[in-house]
Amino acid sequence: MQIHVEKFGGASVNSAKAVRNVINIIKSEEKKRIIVISAMGKTTNALEKIAKYRYETGKADLASLQSLKDYHNAIITELFPNSESALSAINDIFSSLEQNISSIHYGSYDKLYDSIVSFGEIISTTIVSLYLNAEGIRHKFIMAADIIKTDDCFRSANVDWDATKTAIYNIIMPTFENESLILTQGFIASTNKSEKTTLGREGSDYTAAILAHCINATDCTIWKDVEGLLNADPKRMSHTTKINSLPYEEAVELAYYGATIIHPKTIKPLENRNIPLFVRSFLNPAAKGSVICRTDAIEPPVASYIFKDNQTLLSLYPKDFSFITEANIGNIFEILASHNIKVNLMQNSAVSFSVCFDNTDVLPALIEIFRHKYRTLYNEHLRLMTIRHYTQAEIDSATGSYQILIEQRSRTTAQFLVR
Ligand code: ASP
Repeated sequence: MQIHVEKFGGASVNSAKAVRNVINIIKSEEKKRIIVISAMGKTTNALEKIAKYRYETGKADLASLQSLKDYHNAIITELFPNSESALSAINDIFSSLEQNISSIHYGSYDKLYDSIVSFGEIISTTIVSLYLNAEGIRHKFIMAADIIKTDDCFRSANVDWDATKTAIYNIIMPTFENESLILTQGFIASTNKSEKTTLGREGSDYTAAILAHCINATDCTIWKDVEGLLNADPKRMSHTTKINSLPYEEAVELAYYGATIIHPKTIKPLENRNIPLFVRSFLNPAAKGSVICRTDAIEPPVASYIFKDNQTLLSLYPKDFSFITEANIGNIFEILASHNIKVNLMQNSAVSFSVCFDNTDVLPALIEIFRHKYRTLYNEHLRLMTIRHYTQAEIDSATGSYQILIEQRSRTTAQFLVR
């Protein structure tokens, strides 16, 4: 059976007009497909705020809840000529969200977060399902929590592949015998005790990849508001080039260095089954977009630029003037790991060790610990520039106006920590 998986992100469903556009894309081709949808617009950010408020005060942030309700109700009113029943369905979901906020005692913030923030996708997919019905488009609406199974590492849950495959075989595959369209949520999953979990911010791409892997889909498509994969963030560089095709390995490298176009966990499940990943524009669905697949080279062969701002550089100098040794480095990394610091770049000399990581509130605590054995120096608000498949001319033009604090080059990758 040929099945296609397609994911529509928050921007693709952020208004009534946007929802209609998604439905037109779905209508334009008759094929067996699973549609994965994110929360509408900036809903997840708003729910994050609500979860934080509940955690810190024990109360519901009524004003934020009301504006979220107003936002969704306005979309419904515009979508449905007779909106009564859709408004009442969404109202019921908001009531259970409010009930959740007021009644449940959560063990941890992360658990509370998942049980509140997951409502964004439930609301968006319910609206889309009702609209599909109104348009007479047959589909089966399946809850992602019933098919994507994870451990209880809330906010960044790890997929239980065996349980997920079993659920998908039992629920999704029989459905495709009679239906050609399945609608579900991105980002949300559940534990074997049916507690809500989420896969991490922007995790809907990953949901699509999990589903595609488990059903051995023909392909997976991520619909975005850009024309495909670009070799740099257009907000940071005035001239960008669209990449037509990219090997899986290169996509993993780009995600590793901080490219934000695809959730980093998305590639591996697709690569394992040789499923091509298309990145296409929902604003221009006729255009070809980009594909990440099993191929030898990037086409066209261009350098890619990744910029990471808000970087801290911490340099440590042993106070006893001893050399930096494996034992020192091991100890430094233990301390960094215990503070959840992810190192973006590191470099050492005989008597110094420097690490670069995202700016963090725990910096004073880290310095306090390191101070006993090391003289410490640090700089904040730096930029880490990574250039893949560089030429010297490209490096010169990208770094020209900056002061370079650290520079590293391999055959394929050049990195510069600059200010
Ligand atoms: N709604 C979630 C987020 O904004 C998941 C996603 O959109 O991929 O992070």
